[in-house]
Amino acid sequence: MVYKFECSKTGMDCSFTAEAPSKEELMGKIAAHAKEAHQLETLPPEMMEKVNGAITEVQEEAQPSAAPENGSGDQS
Ligand SMILES: [Zn+2]
Repeated sequence: MVYKFECSKTGMDCSFTAEAPSKEELMGKIAAHAKEAHQLETLPPEMMEKVNGAITEVQEEAQPSAAPENGSGDQS
């Protein structure tokens, strides 16, 4: 499981994204980003709510690489 965060989903005009294997780790990255990019020393409760809403859990699965098969219709 991977946790992904998209800053734009909090309503910010910001393209920052982060991901981490745990929510705790992700929150750390978000907090650091909020501080550096948005001058938020701490995340107020209403912001925390938005942040939680902007976090998505992504299942990590071994995805079969879809190799495009070329048709052998090579005609001249
Ligand atoms: Zn941001």
